[in-house]
Amino acid sequence: MRVTDLLKEKKERPVISFEFSRAKTEKAALNLDKALDNLAQAEPDYVSVTFGAGGSTREGSFQLVEKLKNEKKFNVVAYIAGVGLKPDDLTSVLDRFKNLGIETIFVIRGDEPMGDAEFKPHPDAKKYASELLAFIREKYDFCLGAAGYPEGHLEAESKEKDIEYLKLKQETGAEYIVAQYFYNNQFFYDYVDRCRAAGITVPIIPGIMPIYTVKMTEALAKVCGTMIPDEVSQGLAKIALDDKEAILQFGIDFATRQCRDLLKHGVQGLHFYTMNRAKSVISILNTLKSEGLL
Ligand SMILES: Cc1cc2nc3c(=O)[nH]c(=O)nc-3n(C[C@H](O)[C@H](O)[C@H](O)COP(=O)(O)OP(=O)(O)OC[C@H]3O[C@@H](n4cnc5c(N)ncnc54)[C@H](O)[C@@H]3O)c2cc1C
Repeated sequence: MRVTDLLKEKKERPVISFEFSRAKTEKAALNLDKALDNLAQAEPDYVSVTFGAGGSTREGSFQLVEKLKNEKKFNVVAYIAGVGLKPDDLTSVLDRFKNLGIETIFVIRGDEPMGDAEFKPHPDAKKYASELLAFIREKYDFCLGAAGYPEGHLEAESKEKDIEYLKLKQETGAEYIVAQYFYNNQFFYDYVDRCRAAGITVPIIPGIMPIYTVKMTEALAKVCGTMIPDEVSQGLAKIALDDKEAILQFGIDFATRQCRDLLKHGVQGLHFYTMNRAKSVISILNTLKSEGLL
């Protein structure tokens, strides 16, 4: 499955995708298995698997790609993060995905994994995602995707430069963009306008991160550079920290409103960061379906 084919075929309907990561413990693997079976009922157009930049996590990414494709029968996009990989490693990772029948690769630079004492960025690793895209485009026939940042990437020299480098990713092979999550849709709409003005023509799909817990929301927003709007911080402040159900429901309601607005603005897809959980995403999609938006 090539994501660009899905985007072309489903012109009348947004492409729905779910992102997963390898489970780190046996208990987490059991929970992931349950989440996968529940989420299968929502019939995503494709699912995707993040790539651990640390060598110790890489094998888990392969195993999850294989399981989702061969056992769970999903359309699967595999990710590759170049930061820890020298050219030989790149080809062995890409060959392995190719042999598994993967046709779309989402290409990112990656970040050095936190808390992995053994991780060393390889001196010959590609410095930027655009270099990685060019390397893959020259040697393989994968459909390629890349990441975009509506609020700007944290290391970017400026928002303008960030878009310049996004354009370079298009020029070096990216055929679609998945955006980092945001809580203020206006950031996404402005970003798409600026990308189009800069000559970026490929589809740009918004990423949706439902609020799962307060701790996770605050920690991820720092790492990803996502602004938490007053509506979210004030709404969460009214809920007792130990009322997990109420926090989850707040997150479901907020993300449902976000998606409703995005769909009314004609987005070509919704990409859900599931954090290996099912309940929120299913609930959001059920509401949108009941309203005839999907
Ligand atoms: C949808 C999505 C999925 C992700 N999945 C993963 C994952 O599976 N594994 C993982 O480790 N990480 C993942 N990430 C995080 C990602 O690796 C980080 O955000 C990383 O810091 C940047 O990756 P990139 O591919 O966007 O980098 P790049 O496009 O290389 O950009 C990195 C920074 O360098 C700047 N830049 C780019 N090109 C140049 C240039 N030529 N000269 C100077 N500056 C330049 C950019 O403005 C930006 O600030 C994901 C992010 C998103 C949005």
